[in-house]
Amino acid sequence: MKITNIVTTVVGTPWRELTYVELETDEGLVGVGEVRMVNKTETLIAAIQEIGNRYVIGADPFDVERIAWGVLWTEYGRAGEVAQSALAAIDIACWDLIGQACGQPVWKLLGGRFRSVVPAYANGWYQGDREPEAIGELAKTVVARGYRGLKLDPFGAASADLTTAELTRSVSIVEAVRDAVGPDVDIMIEMHGRFRSATAVRVAGALEHLAPKWLEEPVPPANVHGLRNVRLGTRLPIATGERIHGIEDAAPLLEEGLVDTLQVDVTHFGGITGLHKLAGWAAAYNVPLAPHNVCGPVSTAANVHLGVATPNFQVLEHFNDFADTWVLDLVDHPHLVDPRTGGFPVPERPGLGVRFDRERAAEHPSNGATFNLFAVGWEKREGTALDVASTLH
Ligand SMILES: [Mg+2]
Repeated sequence: MKITNIVTTVVGTPWRELTYVELETDEGLVGVGEVRMVNKTETLIAAIQEIGNRYVIGADPFDVERIAWGVLWTEYGRAGEVAQSALAAIDIACWDLIGQACGQPVWKLLGGRFRSVVPAYANGWYQGDREPEAIGELAKTVVARGYRGLKLDPFGAASADLTTAELTRSVSIVEAVRDAVGPDVDIMIEMHGRFRSATAVRVAGALEHLAPKWLEEPVPPANVHGLRNVRLGTRLPIATGERIHGIEDAAPLLEEGLVDTLQVDVTHFGGITGLHKLAGWAAAYNVPLAPHNVCGPVSTAANVHLGVATPNFQVLEHFNDFADTWVLDLVDHPHLVDPRTGGFPVPERPGLGVRFDRERAAEHPSNGATFNLFAVGWEKREGTALDVASTLH
């Protein structure tokens, strides 16, 4: 089987653009991959074309390691966010083709059925005013939907530091969520790399009585020294990794014991091939994966297949029950969280088990939406302009 054509389609939502990559083959099979790029969709498209022309057109989709070698070694330059995202979309589509060609769901080719439910937690559910009572009410709707865990960033537009008033407000929001969901639902605290280490430690201490499942990205991702300080300053578990892009980037996190949950994103880490390798290495340190997942239904499917087959897969993030729920209609058989279990059931269709609907996608064309996590009101996920001033407070 040879890949003969690459078709990219960008779907616009108010706050995220989802890029779909279809690989057409000389045998008539079509495989699909997906990336949610943060603010650089046009750059991603260019990279997919450039990488695709060099390493993908004419290749056998079974040769995922050879395609990855082209991006990671032959290019010489370090593969970062853009290259590893372009590769990821291609790799996921290759695995879809491999599964279809074998007549097997992808998880059967990654180690088989390790678990029968892939646990999920909700994000994107707090699109309201940043008020404790309002967010507490929204949290109840998440639990009513069957989720056993939910994540929130209660810190508004904070960057670097947090005033005492803002800390008090943030803690009140998490207290309202804990009151709303009860003691048995996991609450993940998202910090989005906002803080200096001393601030993150101060915040961690103020939240400890609420027993959060983890603190996520307490400091910016390149600040390993700061992460070490946070590690020494809190008893709470630390999750991070959504902004690392190569297996070598995980070295300090694993080897220095700085992380309790790795959140590497399959769509920014070279795809299923990249994440599958990382899972094996993380297993040596007894560290689980809880992949960052802001994608639509295709890369969610890729994550579910990994989750079925990977022993140290902890839980999968999921937005699409609360944010832009129509994205589920971009495929024929979206993987859905079962309210009875709070997780995804094992998919049985060949490949990823989803077919991309180009006509449906055309109803939501690229709109240039940008997302600024340091702008006031980002939580409403209506799209926020990128301006430097919003980051300087
Ligand atoms: Mg995050």
